[in-house]
Amino acid sequence: MSCECGKYEAVRLDRKSILRRIRESKSLKKKLEGLAEYREGYQWHNLYRCAECGQLWQESYAWNFGAKWYLFQVPPLDAGEWLAEPYVQPDELMMYGVAYEGLMAQSYEARDCPCREEGCENPAIRFHILCKEHYLASQLKLPRGRVFPPYSVG
Ligand SMILES: [Zn+2]
Ligand SMILES: [Zn+2]
Repeated sequence: MSCECGKYEAVRLDRKSILRRIRESKSLKKKLEGLAEYREGYQWHNLYRCAECGQLWQESYAWNFGAKWYLFQVPPLDAGEWLAEPYVQPDELMMYGVAYEGLMAQSYEARDCPCREEGCENPAIRFHILCKEHYLASQLKLPRGRVFPPYSVG
């Protein structure tokens, strides 16, 4: 097979790997055929297939990385299902991970007052009305989309 799909590894969740894939994507795209487009708010995705090996690729718009398109391999999925929920984009997973680590690195002092979340019996943390767990959940917005290997969330 003369396609180059197998030459590309999954994008790693670091800035360097994502920036490299942004650069590679222009030539990679030439051999792919477009299947579907998704536009909703800030979620911009395109679905492509390699005409030779059938590998699906999603192209997503990376607002966090200079507002650029880039491609990554995704598992087989019907275009209709993909349109209902595209795959999550690795750059957003990366940003989520950075935010999560930043929040986890802070120290949270419990205070003498319960968490405001219904049914939660943990103490609220200092300066907040929520316990650590619920505070973190309120600060982190999980990226939208289907999670797929090798990625995971949480
Ligand atoms: Zn291919
Ligand atoms: Zn709580």
